[in-house]
Amino acid sequence: MASWPSFVVWRPAMAYGLLLARPPEPHYLLRKMNAAIASGPSPMMQVHAAARAAAPGHLVLYRVGEFYEVLGDDAPVVSRALGLQLTRRRQKDAPDVPMCGIPAGSADGMVARLLSAGHKVAISEQPPEPGGVRPLRLLTPGTTVDDAVLAAGRPNTLAVALAAGQAVGFAFIDLSTGETGTLMASLDGCGPALARIGPAEVLIACWPESSEALAVAVRSQGAPFADLPVGSPDAAATAGALATAYGERWQDLLQGFSPPELAALAALLLHIQSTTGRLPEAPLPPRRPPFGDTMEIDAPTLRGLEVLSSASGPEGALLAVIDRTVTAAGARLLTRQLAAPLTSPETIHRRLAMVRFLVGTPKVRAGCREELSGMPDALRACGRLAMGSGGPRDLAAVRDALRQATAAAMILTGTLDTPAPLAAAARELAAAGQGACGDLATGLTRALALVLPASAEVGGFIAEGHSRDLDEVRREVTSHTAAIEALQPRYSAETGVKALRIRANNAIGWHIEVPAGQAAALGSAFVLRQGLASTTRFTTPELDLLASALEAARERALRLERAAFEDLRHRALAVRAAIARVCHAAAALDLVCGLAQAAAEYLWSEPELDEGTGLDIEDGRHPVAEPLLEGQGRTFEPNGCRLDEGSRLWLLTGPNMAGKSTFLRQVALIVLMAQIGSFVPARRARIGVVDKLFSRIGASDDLAAGRSTFMVEMLETAAILNQATPRSLVILDEVGRGTSTHDGLAIAQAAMEHLHDLGCRTLFSTHYHELADAAEAMPHAICMAMDASAGRHGAVFNYRVVPGRAGRSYGLKVAALAGLPPAVLRRAEHLLAKHSSSSTLLHGSGRNPIKSATCGD
Ligand code: ADP
Ligand code: MG
Repeated sequence: MASWPSFVVWRPAMAYGLLLARPPEPHYLLRKMNAAIASGPSPMMQVHAAARAAAPGHLVLYRVGEFYEVLGDDAPVVSRALGLQLTRRRQKDAPDVPMCGIPAGSADGMVARLLSAGHKVAISEQPPEPGGVRPLRLLTPGTTVDDAVLAAGRPNTLAVALAAGQAVGFAFIDLSTGETGTLMASLDGCGPALARIGPAEVLIACWPESSEALAVAVRSQGAPFADLPVGSPDAAATAGALATAYGERWQDLLQGFSPPELAALAALLLHIQSTTGRLPEAPLPPRRPPFGDTMEIDAPTLRGLEVLSSASGPEGALLAVIDRTVTAAGARLLTRQLAAPLTSPETIHRRLAMVRFLVGTPKVRAGCREELSGMPDALRACGRLAMGSGGPRDLAAVRDALRQATAAAMILTGTLDTPAPLAAAARELAAAGQGACGDLATGLTRALALVLPASAEVGGFIAEGHSRDLDEVRREVTSHTAAIEALQPRYSAETGVKALRIRANNAIGWHIEVPAGQAAALGSAFVLRQGLASTTRFTTPELDLLASALEAARERALRLERAAFEDLRHRALAVRAAIARVCHAAAALDLVCGLAQAAAEYLWSEPELDEGTGLDIEDGRHPVAEPLLEGQGRTFEPNGCRLDEGSRLWLLTGPNMAGKSTFLRQVALIVLMAQIGSFVPARRARIGVVDKLFSRIGASDDLAAGRSTFMVEMLETAAILNQATPRSLVILDEVGRGTSTHDGLAIAQAAMEHLHDLGCRTLFSTHYHELADAAEAMPHAICMAMDASAGRHGAVFNYRVVPGRAGRSYGLKVAALAGLPPAVLRRAEHLLAKHSSSSTLLHGSGRNPIKSATCGD
């Protein structure tokens, strides 16, 4: 067996495992912290410093009363990230320290925001008893399974990258659901591979020799990344880790996985163990999605097209518009699907067949969605049970999910003419009520009480009849309680004190309470426990005996309940893989129901897909902009787009604000939607499946990210030019804007020519009207323009894409519209005329770029 770090004893509330490669014992850090405190003058700052030292790289949230204080260097970071006021904490005999405070009540949400912004957080809680050690919880974006921190409908994936030669193995896990996978990618393919994984956190176990490609991919992903502390495991460590996680027969289970993938998976598991202190129990076998059966999209493309989130947040994104799923697992599947659309026309048609059927049968659709919406997130419930943080409600979630899945299956099996893939989905769902899953559901139904506490520590969640021992002990509890209660009338009669009561409290337990004035009436059999102003409390040997018997019975009951919980937990995890299959089938059904729902609501139409390299969209609309504009009482102007042999490349010119970017994105989004099996906002669409989708937006347009520099723009453009194939679709929106006109124009033209010769489908928008000359000379390119007529007050846009090239003077019209002084406008007109006549066009055709002309077709 290999070097598998020994376990840290895990307590749910105390995650101090991060730094402990070989922890001597769990309290090691805390003892160190306490030692540090003993030697300094300002205890609180010392404890804080110790917490910080124990969690390097983490923002420390330090609980003081009703606030979490953030101190020192962390304070400005947190204040900026959360928009909190930055103040100072005064210190005696020491300079003030920067500080900001997070109210304990809103801490969960704020921690979630810090994690999703990529920060690691260490939470130093108040000690359970005064003077005790402060529990420290470490949270990183990829390792948290805390429901308060995770978004229900978003995957939360932790990825490890491990290079081997010219390839990179990726292993990834969503710890909250246990869904695990691996991928192999070439160095060039790292970007799309990572975008497909969509990690919340990336750890590099081993960099490739030339690290540039992976570095760019990781950085453009936008998730926090770091070198993996445990590094790259050798063959023996890999085998050891995999055997521990998947059992001695791991080699059978993981057949077909390449060595780098296995090493990455082992590194991932080792990391999880060292940070969380445990490995997930009953891990789901990793899936290995064959790369190449999905469209490659990288992070900048997803961002540029605003697929998952937009500049204005998640609301303006494609996902928000098309997401009509009713389960969290369905939403997560849709999110993942959008980052990895399908490429096989057959597979797409299978999904489209389901969507078409559900569009046409609103009752079936509504019925399925109704049943699914009552389905709890059993994947996450199992995730918590597997990580030791689950409780009785998670067991109930599994039970209810299995029941709802059976109900959804019945709707489909009771429907006539369901297409084959839907019938198959129904069969997978029906498994929820059969075999091991069915037994589990029945067992849980019998075992669990009606009202359930969140934690198994509390007890009271096991139903009567589940365990004879427990029922017996509970009867004891009842009879002891009754015996204690029976003492009251007896003692009252014996002493003649009518107001005598038998009570219990946390401080002194069971006792006899009488008004202070009547205490004397109690004889010597009564032992004084406590004298208060108005009451006096006594006990008797008899009461003490009964009370301790009751306590013992209660404790036994609690132990039995906890054991029953462990047993049920194991029973659930024993069929975890089967539960996951049911959940995945339900998520897949939710996905197609949601797509059908969106199609019906927006009146989208079914696309056709084929193996060709054409693209023909009639009256396409932008899925996000159209409803947005209509919400404002405006209408969206549809536009077609036909790319084929003679017009593989469209050069789109037009003034600012004429609708270029909208049109480009709508074409890309329609293709993307079609390839996830969605209906599309177009009258008709015929699409030759796209193997890679690229979209880049010129630097100055990408204000939202706030980070796009010309260098980034060029890096990204380089990636496209190097990776696009004749089956790809490339959208370049004003590339070359980030530099001087001459550079920009030269780069734009060279890039356009390269793409043209490569033969991929390309939409190229530019404000360099000079490029039209170059495009005209290319056999497979045509010039298109945003139609704009000159109105009395300047350019009037009708957002129509028409053949030809845009005039150049609209910029001046817009300037006039904006109210530039007439003298400035006249001067600008003069300069424009001068530049136009003297400009040396790159192509040298000598045509006047101001003149509007139709070209290309
Ligand atoms: P450009 O990229 O040419 O500067 P944009 O695509 O950013 O222009 O569009 C500018 C604005 O024009 C959009 O915000 C939208 O309000 C409007 N717009 C764009 N396309 C259309 C359309 N097809 N129909 C109606 N309005 C449109
Ligand atoms: Mg634009």
